[in-house]
Amino acid sequence: MRTPIIAGNWKMFKTVSEAEAFFAEVKGKAERPGVESVICAPFTNLPALVKAAAGTTIAIGAQNMHFEDSGAFTGEISGPMLKELGVKYVILGHSERRAYFAETDEIVNKKVHAAFKHGLTPIICVGEKLEEREAGKTKDVCKTQTEAALKGLTAEQAAQAVIAYEPIWAIGTGKSSTADDAEDVIAYIRGVVRGLFGEAADKIRIQYGGSVKPDNIREFLSRPNIDGALVGGASLEPASYIKLIEGA
Ligand code: PEP
Repeated sequence: MRTPIIAGNWKMFKTVSEAEAFFAEVKGKAERPGVESVICAPFTNLPALVKAAAGTTIAIGAQNMHFEDSGAFTGEISGPMLKELGVKYVILGHSERRAYFAETDEIVNKKVHAAFKHGLTPIICVGEKLEEREAGKTKDVCKTQTEAALKGLTAEQAAQAVIAYEPIWAIGTGKSSTADDAEDVIAYIRGVVRGLFGEAADKIRIQYGGSVKPDNIREFLSRPNIDGALVGGASLEPASYIKLIEGA
């Protein structure tokens, strides 16, 4: 059985004091046996959140990292820096990174390898644009992005990775995919993983992301291939985040 994983993606929201206040409210509440609860916060919040999360079951994640360990890359953060802080997860290849920061499939793949090298679990985002969906290319896009992101991994690493299927037109728009549609694409992505890594496909967790809220999370998670959710907007308020974990 795959443990459902609910990850909040705070994007570029919350100062350190706001993050601490959030955590004080969700501690002991956004925690449920059998559900993994992860908060992916801006870099500046990570030390305070890792400290606050000690002794809880909530894991802390970053939203990006560089693929090199160190070097002349002004403004970047590396895997060893995150690992030393106690960060467990890192979102890679989010559509906002691909769109605004020119992240290619090749860069995402390098970052995925770097994450494993440093003992971080990647949450790898894949998903189609609206025009790609309308052109009937959803599955082709997801296949290309999934195969590129996982290229060169061992089956053991692939089994540990998390994929987030996030149709781009559903992110932050209030327009979520239907649960049946998300299940169809996610089952397809699992098939792609099976083609590459065999039985690792039964272990890899594949989330849905895109306007998930407390009132629709249960519907998504009721589908057999959907192993959790990556949630932006609805993860920012403590009450809403607690309800997401309760609904999972
Ligand atoms: C996201 O940021 O990955 C996301 C899915 O955002 P939202 O839940 O706001 O659509």
